[in-house]
Amino acid sequence: TQRTFVLLKPDAVKRGLVGQILARFESKGLQIVALEQRTIDAAQADAHYAEHVERDFYPPLRDFVTSGPLVAVVLEGDEAIEVVRALNGATDGRKAAPGTIRGDYSLSNRENLVHGSDSPESAEREIALWFPAL
Ligand code: ATP
Repeated sequence: TQRTFVLLKPDAVKRGLVGQILARFESKGLQIVALEQRTIDAAQADAHYAEHVERDFYPPLRDFVTSGPLVAVVLEGDEAIEVVRALNGATDGRKAAPGTIRGDYSLSNRENLVHGSDSPESAEREIALWFPAL
């Protein structure tokens, strides 16, 4: 079994999609290990997106993820990292396949509702950053 870190970004909260998105993860068989709604500051955004801080798309991404409450989640299950990324779909909601979270609910490259860790190393780093008590 494996743990992964998931964010339901501020667009998910604003649009009232938290329950529907969590239902997809739960229905798939993933267990919720931790879950908390938070509003983060720029420093937390920079720490989470450390690998993107220098990218052109980052300043508006930082504004977006600090714009309102988000929901931070740790999920556990067999191959949870890959399974969550498959459920999330491609980064750009306009290109993500129907049936995925982004493919069904997002029409944006930035406001794409969810984040999921992309490797075991990222999952470990992100879980420690967001839920240091775990
Ligand atoms: P995540 O890491 O959030 O699961 P991802 O791995 O599919 O998404 P990354 O390439 O790591 O995508 O980018 C992180 C986030 O930055 C994306 O989810 C999206 O919100 C934003 N982003 C990425 N590329 C762009 C872009 N070209 N324009 C605007 N926003 C972008």
